[in-house]
Amino acid sequence: KYSIFWHRRDLRLNDNAALYQALKAGGPVLSIFIFDQNILEDLNNRQDARVDFIHQELQRLQKELRELGSDLLVLYGRPQAVWTQLLQDWSIEKVYTNRDYEPYAKKRDAAIAELLQKENIPLLTKKDHVIFEELEVEKKTSGPYTVFTPYSKQWKAKLDSKKTAAGESFYLQSYPNENYQQNYASLPGNFEIPSLESMGFAPSQLNFPSRLLKQKRIKKYEETRNFPALEEGTSRLGLHFRFGTISIREKARKARKLNATYLNELIWRDFYAQILANFPKVVGQSFRPQYDQIEWRNNEEEFEAWCQGKTGYPLVDAGMRELNATGYMHNRVRMLVASFLCKHLLIDWRWGEAYFAEKLLDFDLASNNGGWQWAAGSGTDAAPYFRIFSPESQLKKFDAELKYVKKWVKEYGSRRYPQPIVEHKFARQRCLATYKSALNQD
Ligand code: FAD
Repeated sequence: KYSIFWHRRDLRLNDNAALYQALKAGGPVLSIFIFDQNILEDLNNRQDARVDFIHQELQRLQKELRELGSDLLVLYGRPQAVWTQLLQDWSIEKVYTNRDYEPYAKKRDAAIAELLQKENIPLLTKKDHVIFEELEVEKKTSGPYTVFTPYSKQWKAKLDSKKTAAGESFYLQSYPNENYQQNYASLPGNFEIPSLESMGFAPSQLNFPSRLLKQKRIKKYEETRNFPALEEGTSRLGLHFRFGTISIREKARKARKLNATYLNELIWRDFYAQILANFPKVVGQSFRPQYDQIEWRNNEEEFEAWCQGKTGYPLVDAGMRELNATGYMHNRVRMLVASFLCKHLLIDWRWGEAYFAEKLLDFDLASNNGGWQWAAGSGTDAAPYFRIFSPESQLKKFDAELKYVKKWVKEYGSRRYPQPIVEHKFARQRCLATYKSALNQD
């Protein structure tokens, strides 16, 4: 009888909480991954770089597992149907996996747990994607935090506490690898990874950021992190955190030693994950309900100009073009383009959120939703509605030499570059009036 380990947002062997548990429990372990047809069908782009990334990472995982005398079974289909088939093909004792907190994933996992339960097979889950889950860092008066600073204080105290051992890792060297050693060749199942083409996708041609975190980068993080022209100014690890190709525990421990500001960014990630888990309504709705009374202008041509990076505001345009070309945008610029869409153009934050969801390699429902609601002012710990970024002063502060702008907006300064889509002062007043009337504030 086999234990199955199901990889999802944790495409690595080292320091993988549920995989470690599966191996430790004894008996042969079979690792699987399912390309989820429900998710893939929803993607608009047939060259989606994230599918390509997963595909490449699975090849690496398979190679690593084969070196250990094991293998990786990669399937394609709807999870319910795939599991029904697995139950027929394999004699399964237990199933292990790491928890996923997105609403779709929770529903999927509940359905699979039920399916397995009918055969008396337990679905055993572990925390792996975050340092602390939704109910682990709570207010003294009980209930989830909705403000970051007190949350982060308690988070750090908990990380340091010997009792919780939250940053503890499970290293590959300590794995009982003998439980991998099985002769899969004689067993049912095809261990060829389905090609991208067979699932209706093509390679993306994008380069993916390295998973290595150089100490030097982290030590200098404060000085460099706000300047989008510096390619090494931030860690560029978002994609790897998203798909679990690196361990958050390991990086949080490193950050705790090296740089408090960097650690804070990792805490934001947990913060938004717990907001999504505790308040799933934020998907589609403003956290502060009165913000859903805002009368958005939702001008489609202006939205298109924003998407294409043709607003006539160079830092906004550079950001959007970087996103379109690489699947990445610097955080400083994400904040500006999001604020610009909501406040200068009065376009519903959900439009921008959806556009980012399609384009960002590091797209993560919780952080993206948190970032957008922050920019719109509608979120938990949001920028106040009357704070409106000025694209010109942001440019002066963060790209004074126009290095970033010139990299992405080649025609900047020529007659081909568009005039500003809206005048800043006018847009500011219009935004204040619109927000005020929705929020009933004077
Ligand atoms: P670094 O500065 O090196 O930070 C390291 C890691 O910390 C990041 O990889 C990320 O996991 C985490 N982190 C940093 N800042 C934040 C933050 N504000 N909120 C949550 N986690 C953070 N981040 C995503 O991972 N996925 C998203 O879909 C996403 N959408 C965003 C949308 C908007 C409108 C805004 C304003 C921010 C968004 N962010 C998102 C947060 C942040 O911009 C990115 O995490 C960061 O730019 C990724 O680059 P990096 O890995 O070099 O970050």
